[in-house]
Amino acid sequence: MKTYDYIVVGGGSGGIASANRAGMYGAKVLLIESNELGGTCVNVGCVPKKVMWQASTILETIERDASSYGIQADVTKVDFSELVEKRQKYIDFLHGAYQRGLDSNQVDAVKGYATFIDSQTVEVNGEQYQAPKILIATGGRASQMTIPGGEYAIDSNGFFELTELPARTIVLGAGYIAAELSGVLQGFGSEVMWAYRKERPLRTFDKMLSDNLIEIYQAAGMKTFANHTAIEIIKNDEDYTVIFENGNTLTGDCVLFAGGRVPNTENLGLENTNVTLTKKGFVQVDKYQNTTDEHIFAVGDVIGKIDLTPVAIAAGRRLSERLFNDKKDEHLDYNLVPTVIFTHPPIATIGLTEEQALEKYGEKEIKVYRSRFTPMYFALSDYRQKCEMKLICVGKEEKIVGLHAIGVGVDEMLQGFAVAIKMGATKADFDNTVAIHPTGAEEFVTMR
Ligand code: FAD
Ligand code: NDP
Repeated sequence: MKTYDYIVVGGGSGGIASANRAGMYGAKVLLIESNELGGTCVNVGCVPKKVMWQASTILETIERDASSYGIQADVTKVDFSELVEKRQKYIDFLHGAYQRGLDSNQVDAVKGYATFIDSQTVEVNGEQYQAPKILIATGGRASQMTIPGGEYAIDSNGFFELTELPARTIVLGAGYIAAELSGVLQGFGSEVMWAYRKERPLRTFDKMLSDNLIEIYQAAGMKTFANHTAIEIIKNDEDYTVIFENGNTLTGDCVLFAGGRVPNTENLGLENTNVTLTKKGFVQVDKYQNTTDEHIFAVGDVIGKIDLTPVAIAAGRRLSERLFNDKKDEHLDYNLVPTVIFTHPPIATIGLTEEQALEKYGEKEIKVYRSRFTPMYFALSDYRQKCEMKLICVGKEEKIVGLHAIGVGVDEMLQGFAVAIKMGATKADFDNTVAIHPTGAEEFVTMR
């Protein structure tokens, strides 16, 4: 049996980051990945999604905005399959880069599906490997529709397998993926029908964001359907019909379902360990990423806390700092994590929503600053898409506890503001910073 200091199960964002950091400190590390290196983010998540978002943004710029600057540009061809092929080549390049990273940190990598034999032993491809410390970083997968005909709906993986643009797409779901892929598909020219169960999508985010998004999507021609719960999908000769609880029906060439993710914790042999799972099947961990088994740790989507790549990476690296670099208290603070939703236009957000701040601090303690304006990008255009921003401040010192924005360019604005907010910035700190003109970001430091 081969022995290691550290075995990492899952070669996605969290696993690779933790394995490399442990290797850097001289630990003997084995990484086990059943599929391609890079996991969800690289293969069927952030990376291919961002490529598609960029591509549809470029198309939007040419078709919608260029003429307002006197630039007449006709799009003669959109080669969807060429785009998909090039996207895959880029992903293949990333596989190589990840492998080189592992090599440079002397991390051994094995391709295969790992199962636990006991708390310190895993088996893969019929071979057993042992280590006193094992990390579960097996991520998650899209939840599937359980309604009759649910099997006709594709998930985000299915979206990335498309080599042709569906003419009419019905998108079901209300979170990040439904919001992003609706925008991408619409941007490419698919007729999008976005149906969600409740009164609005993105319900865990500040209401300002979804209100603006829906207004902008509708203005772009997307049809949105609130209070629509799908109960059946019927396959017709050439297309699909979704039947909703309220009696409405929608027909399209493709049905895309994005209703959250489930953890990859079945078939892992966890019954042979002392790891405890939550009711929803996520691995239960404390703030140090310790599971209830002293030899086993977990990071990333498999713990069901914040499903974002940089969160998985940060947790994985900090864990290795603690386990292999003697930083005894090193752990990830899961508060104030900034996030961007790559909609058209993007959404950027950190901290409490207005509703959450009101509930936590009470009306008297909260001051909300807002700005709604037309970005200069649209100055010469008849199409005047708004940007809207909000700062939520608490107490006399007006500490900023929430920042939310939707509009052109906000995706690239957030990171710097997130640093300031994480450091405890107040409204006065923002006001004391001289604006950069002419930008959209300057609104954040000039709000009255
Ligand atoms: P994963 O990246 O899922 O890696 C887990 C790996 O474990 C997989 O490669 C899997 O094959 C492997 N595995 C599972 N079981 C075993 C086993 N038993 N043995 C061996 N290997 C195993 N996040 C962002 O921050 N920004 C974005 O823009 C963004 N866009 C996204 C778009 C989509 C469509 C999706 C689905 C997700 C997106 N995410 C985004 C989320 C991000 O991809 C995840 O949060 C991140 O990949 C989680 O990393 P992880 O290491 O926990 O798991
Ligand atoms: P989300 O958790 O973001 O949203 C799923 C939503 O879909 C639920 O909140 C629910 O909203 C709705 N829903 C759930 N079940 C059903 C159902 N049966 N029928 C219809 N609607 C349903 O999940 P996603 O799948 O969109 O994304 C998974 C995670 O991946 C995200 O949470 C995010 O962490 C990560 N991600 C990050 C991205 C980024 O950083 N830009 C991009 C993509 C994903 P309601 O209750 O209102 O109906």
